[in-house]
Amino acid sequence: MTSLDTLPITAIKGIGPSQAERFARLGLRTVQDLLFHLPMRYQDRTRVVPMGALRPGDQAVVEGEVLHTEIKFGRRRMLLTRIADGTGSLTLRFFHFTAAQQAALARGTRLRCFGEVRTGATTLEMVHPEYRRVGEDAPVEEHFTPIYPATEGLQQPSLRRAIDAALARLDTHALPEWLPAALREELAFPALDHALQLLHRPPPDVALSALSEGRHPAQRRLAFEELLAHHLSLRRLRELTRREAAYPLKPTGKLTKAFLDALPFELTGAQRRVTKEIAADLRGAAPMQRLVQGDVGSGKTVVAALAVLMAVESGYQAAVMAPTEILAEQHYRNFARWLAPLGVNVVWLSGRQKGKARRAAVEAVATGAALVAVGTHALFQEDVEFAGLGLVVVDEQHRFGVHQRLALKEKGAKAGRHAHQLIMTATPIPRTLAQTAYADLDLSVIDELPPGRTPVETVVVPDNRREAVVQRVYSACAEGRQAYWVCTLIEESDVLQAQAAEDTAVLLREALPTLRVGLVHGRLKPDEKEAVMSAFKAGELDLLVATTVIEVGVDVPNASLMVIENAERLGLAQLHQLRGRVGRGAAKSACVLMYHGPLSETARERLAVMRETNDGFVIARKDLEIRGPGELLGTRQTGLQQLRIADLERDEDLLPRVAEVAAQLLRDYPSHVPPLVARWVGDDQRYAHV
Ligand code: ADP
Ligand code: MG
Repeated sequence: MTSLDTLPITAIKGIGPSQAERFARLGLRTVQDLLFHLPMRYQDRTRVVPMGALRPGDQAVVEGEVLHTEIKFGRRRMLLTRIADGTGSLTLRFFHFTAAQQAALARGTRLRCFGEVRTGATTLEMVHPEYRRVGEDAPVEEHFTPIYPATEGLQQPSLRRAIDAALARLDTHALPEWLPAALREELAFPALDHALQLLHRPPPDVALSALSEGRHPAQRRLAFEELLAHHLSLRRLRELTRREAAYPLKPTGKLTKAFLDALPFELTGAQRRVTKEIAADLRGAAPMQRLVQGDVGSGKTVVAALAVLMAVESGYQAAVMAPTEILAEQHYRNFARWLAPLGVNVVWLSGRQKGKARRAAVEAVATGAALVAVGTHALFQEDVEFAGLGLVVVDEQHRFGVHQRLALKEKGAKAGRHAHQLIMTATPIPRTLAQTAYADLDLSVIDELPPGRTPVETVVVPDNRREAVVQRVYSACAEGRQAYWVCTLIEESDVLQAQAAEDTAVLLREALPTLRVGLVHGRLKPDEKEAVMSAFKAGELDLLVATTVIEVGVDVPNASLMVIENAERLGLAQLHQLRGRVGRGAAKSACVLMYHGPLSETARERLAVMRETNDGFVIARKDLEIRGPGELLGTRQTGLQQLRIADLERDEDLLPRVAEVAAQLLRDYPSHVPPLVARWVGDDQRYAHV
């Protein structure tokens, strides 16, 4: 028997090469792919609903006799047909119609219609329903009607026909089962072919509500399999990494000790623990792949500095990469300030750097004159060669996915040796989720804030109270504190964002003539930005008007007030990041979330969450509830490709079992793993084979 996982889609009658290309646009290449192309929703055309039982919003089949049909002239010309079935009546409304159509809808005609029920002026109605003339006892559909993800040139009927043919093949062709039988029994999972049959062609006795909520055992079974496949693919990646060679580092402790002695504070317990975990990794022969998660302000930078010094002590270079120029610049300043006194040369490498400065930096890195390089992605451009790169630190990696992590690892490789990777993120990731979404990484959590922090008090105010907010900025600055005023725009455009911030700065300078107001946005030249940020840091500016460029990493402990304009436009994760810029010193800090009403329901919920808690984990949980994990983490960010069936929030209870079963499969059924990964991760499994 041919196995359906390799049978090309053209084996289906009616699918030739040109049609196959359309299917390929949906990622469908084999008969198995077709079987795993599951409906996104269903319609119930299995029964005729009495009109008296219809509710607005229902999608339903109704059947009745035409009472009358007329053309109405409202704002638009339209055809109205009233039908009744003895339990009630319904209006069919058509904006596009022909004379023939009108004639066919004569009084007494028996019609069967399918459409969405809406509240009309006097009766319930359907706008442009599907309809046809029927006799008595015309048969209804035997199954719920699947609605598939479609694409141009490939609509529901073709998809249904192809999938029907694929389902028919299930009788004669094997679809391999990769889940161990004992597991299926334990979790009451149906067999694979049953699950697929049911999901494509649900019989009328299936609870449609369970299906639409994704909680039917057939869906749970497939969701589990999908999560398992992704988890296995990431684990495989990790195992491959473990087999790679790194430079085993032998930190002497000399520099780290001098650094710690010079710090004006003690490390927190969590910082010490995570530093130890990193030290153990660095001594290993395989490259470290560690994700350090710590809420904003938990002190990740110090931990990164310790890792960098361990590499340097061992005679290797370290590179520190940040996603934005501003954040990279700030790291550069910190590292230069901390490391120069220890005799460690730090260079700066950014994409905007040109000419002599860039050549000098590239040369220092290539000769080993510079032991530490800090910068943006420019650190890994083609012309940059490190003399002996032992460690790469990536800050705020939640902006990078698994593919970027891999690319970076390859770029950091030299003569078959890979640099250790340390990835820092402030995005709080629930542990079970991390086990699945970051299974290629080891995880450390800095779960303790430095002592003496007071929680940021957060208020939510409408923007018609702007004057009071401006007054509040004045009061804070009059007491010698500093403030941020963040302008938000939904547009990704740098130009528009910069313009909005410039306009706001002009207005605030007028309203607050005694304050020193600075402005920073993505359009400034790096040295201009640098000048403004240093001035703010040095206390030479009272108020910093900024775009969300300051979202990550900016650290000015004397700043105690943050105003975020149009806060309703931002997601919870971003609001939390921004608010993390204040409350870094001992002074009582506040965050004013100013909104432009009226607020949508989700915006209201988000702002309420911000007012109620400062805890990044709680906020992440709420974010999951309000928006779903896809948006919180983003597929790019989690490294999980588009999930087809599983939903990380809905199926969260499956995650612990996913990790266990993955281990079991690797141990007892290793040959199941590659085809299982191929089934679900498909083309993207490329990354597991680099
Ligand atoms: P994040 O985790 O958000 O990157 P940072 O590393 O920027 O946090 O640290 C936030 C602030 O806390 C900085 O001003 C830093 O100097 C300070 N800090 C870090 N660790 C400690 C500590 N153990 N005790 C006191 N302050 C600390
Ligand atoms: Mg940071």
